[in-house]
Amino acid sequence: MNYEKSCGAIVFRKFHGNIELLLIKHANGGHWSFPKGHVEAGETEVETAIREIREETGIEVMIDPTFREIVSYYPKRDIKKDVIYFIAKAKTYDYTPQEEEISQIKWVELDRVHQLLTYDNDKQLVNKARQIMKDSF
Ligand code: ATP
Repeated sequence: MNYEKSCGAIVFRKFHGNIELLLIKHANGGHWSFPKGHVEAGETEVETAIREIREETGIEVMIDPTFREIVSYYPKRDIKKDVIYFIAKAKTYDYTPQEEEISQIKWVELDRVHQLLTYDNDKQLVNKARQIMKDSF
C-alpha cells in the first residue's frame, strides 16, 4: 500500500450576512471539494494549505490551525490518501481558477454546500467545522 498526503482548508467568508464556503471543481474527475494539494519539501502543513489555496484559486487566507481534521480515502486501489484540512478565513474574495487543474470555483452558502459536495466525508468535515465558523464572527 502506498501513501499520499495533501493539505488544504475549508475557506469561508461572511457575505451579506451569510457564511459562504469556497468550493472547487477538479478538472480531473469532476468532483466538487475544497482547495488542497501535495506537501512540498520543507513545508509545514499550514504552509502547504496556504500555498495550494493561492495557487488553485488566487485567494489569500488566514488559517486557524486549532481545527485540524483528516479526510482519508483511496484514490486508487493500492494508494491510501490522507488530506489534512484546516479552517481558513478568506482575506480576499476574487478567485482565478488555476488552469488545467480547476474547472470551476464558487462561493456557496453554508446551508447549501451539501448539495454540491461530491463526497460524504467532505460533508461530514463541514458539519464538524460549522459551529467554529459561526462563532468566529
Ligand atoms: P490533490 O488536490 O491533493 O493534488 P488530486 O488532484 O491528485 O489531488 P484527488 O482530488 O485526491 O486528486 O482525486 C483523486 C481521486 O480520488 C479521484 O478519482 C477523486 O474522485 C477521488 N476523491 C477525491 N476526493 C475524495 C474524497 N473526499 N473521498 C473519496 N474519493 C475522493
